[in-house]
Amino acid sequence: MDFRLTDEQEALRESVREFAREVVAPVIAEHYEQHTFPYEVIRQMGKMGLFGLPFDEQHGGMGGDYFALCLALEELARVDSSVAITLEAAVSLGAMPIYRFGTEEQKATWLPRLLSGEALAGFGLTEPGTGSDAAGTQTRAVLDGDEWVINGSKAFITNSGTDITAMVTVTAVTGTNPDGSKELSTIIVPTGTPGFTVAPGYSKVGWTASDTHELTFDDCRVPAANLLGARGRGFAQFLRILDEGRIAIAALAVGLAQGCVDESIRYAKERHAFGQPIGANQAIQFKIADMELKAHTARLAYYDAAARMLAGEPFKRQAAIAKLHASTIAVDNAREATQIHGGYGFMNEYPVARFWRDSKILEIGEGTSEVQRMIIARDLGL
Ligand SMILES: Cc1cc2nc3c(=O)[nH]c(=O)nc-3n(C[C@H](O)[C@H](O)[C@H](O)COP(=O)(O)OP(=O)(O)OC[C@H]3O[C@@H](n4cnc5c(N)ncnc54)[C@H](O)[C@@H]3O)c2cc1C
Repeated sequence: MDFRLTDEQEALRESVREFAREVVAPVIAEHYEQHTFPYEVIRQMGKMGLFGLPFDEQHGGMGGDYFALCLALEELARVDSSVAITLEAAVSLGAMPIYRFGTEEQKATWLPRLLSGEALAGFGLTEPGTGSDAAGTQTRAVLDGDEWVINGSKAFITNSGTDITAMVTVTAVTGTNPDGSKELSTIIVPTGTPGFTVAPGYSKVGWTASDTHELTFDDCRVPAANLLGARGRGFAQFLRILDEGRIAIAALAVGLAQGCVDESIRYAKERHAFGQPIGANQAIQFKIADMELKAHTARLAYYDAAARMLAGEPFKRQAAIAKLHASTIAVDNAREATQIHGGYGFMNEYPVARFWRDSKILEIGEGTSEVQRMIIARDLGL
């Protein structure tokens, strides 16, 4: 068992770390404050190949794997979570369903632009009335001749309303299964399709430089060929996408937790109280040591989940453990980093204030902490 990174993985990590420091850090506070989407940063991430990391070269990807994506997410989130979640959602929720379940024609239509970062895609599962209980989907799609007619709405959809958003995948009820349960399918809806409306962006507590909208579908018609994979496979598809996505969110959470350590060390050496740096107090040293302990162990948890996934082994429980643990410790570290910064930690100009505001959603998105516990308990046979 060897958790050390290969030279190639180290090189990727180093280049994303440098990009985050040199390109993201100088501009992100302004975007965060103004709630604007960092198009120029995203464009440069596209040029670096980050949107194509886990995809094969035949489809326009970089020929890497899901772990490479996780390493990039960790390094981005160490500086800023808005750009990290934009990448996470674009790759793991946006492009991945097309890559995993799409026809060759759908892949040829969408993947080149999505994998280059030229275009973004959203993943429309959550609805205003149902999130954790995704089987409660109300959005309906009815086949009318050679078109699907979609009616319903989706809530909190990331990357769904940027100037470069090309499409969203939407889960919808397309019938009834033999056992009486809802038949769920996934349908591709291109941006600009008549009847598809994107509401103005939400006013959010954190991730304010990322893009999140409510979507409505009002007799929205798309070709029958826009069905993703087989009819009735929607449930299985989003379970797979979310299982993987949890590893990516765990990586993002570890990045935020490590960023809290970085900023706390810097500040503990710089800030003086009672005639010495605050870092000379063992109480502060122990806080930072505990923060490092948490970031390190959460990292091992996501490395383990990713290794199992890439080996083709079952990884559902390990992904849920990684996501649950990493999001919990990200909130812990953000709280302690803010505390170490005293009053300045409550000022938006300090990165730890952003970390604090960005940490809470990690316990909610892509399955709440309660849902992760449900998954773990179920996997243990309970
Ligand atoms: C910024 C942001 C971006 C997002 N991006 C996307 C996206 O791109 N695509 C997408 O589809 N969704 C997205 N989401 C939605 C997100 O995944 C959901 O908010 C999340 O899954 C929780 O669903 P909910 O908000 O409906 O909460 P609910 O399901 O209503 O849950 C409310 C509370 O009840 C608890 N609860 C529910 N059921 C149980 C139970 N059986 N036992 C114990 N506790 C329970 C939950 O854990 C939670 O604490 C995003 C959300 C946000 C805020």
